Amino acid sequence: MRTSLVALASFLTVLASSLLTTPGAEAAITSVYWPEDVVYVQDLTAGLRTADGSPVWPVKAAAERWDDANPVDFRYTTKACPTGAQCVVVRQAELAAPVVGSGATGRSGPDIVSAAVVLDTTFGRTNGPTRRRNVVCHELGHTLGLQHSPGSCMTSHVTDERYPSKADIKNLVALYGHR
Ligand SMILES: [Zn+2]
Repeated sequence: MRTSLVALASFLTVLASSLLTTPGAEAAITSVYWPEDVVYVQDLTAGLRTADGSPVWPVKAAAERWDDANPVDFRYTTKACPTGAQCVVVRQAELAAPVVGSGATGRSGPDIVSAAVVLDTTFGRTNGPTRRRNVVCHELGHTLGLQHSPGSCMTSHVTDERYPSKADIKNLVALYGHR
């Protein structure tokens, strides 16, 4: 398809609940999904390490968690995605406060055709592993086509929740079962 036909949907994660988007502001994304089962997650942050040697952004762990019990085959890689493959590119950059993460999908109709996650440099430096995991989990969830949901890392603001909920997985099964 032509690039001009691809809509870009971007989700931004903000730090404070008082800065949440107005209700329904992100509700336009209802049933978008990757058309093929295999989605690569290309981690450009893998070399970024904390003082104890652990990854600043636990992209591998979060991607593997999303891969569990999920119709999408989410494949972590530190190399370039194969040519023509469905690909989520994860990188770190300084985002304008209060935004601490972004998960954007390029779309053509209901199809997700590209995705990019940006994780905030300052947040990564100033937050512990739980919150860094929360943000990675959250933004990867958006790249699968999921919206915000409570009681999971998909809550609309930063929490200590590190994992998807059972409801998120159910939504994925429903979303990808209908292709
Ligand atoms: Zn979000």
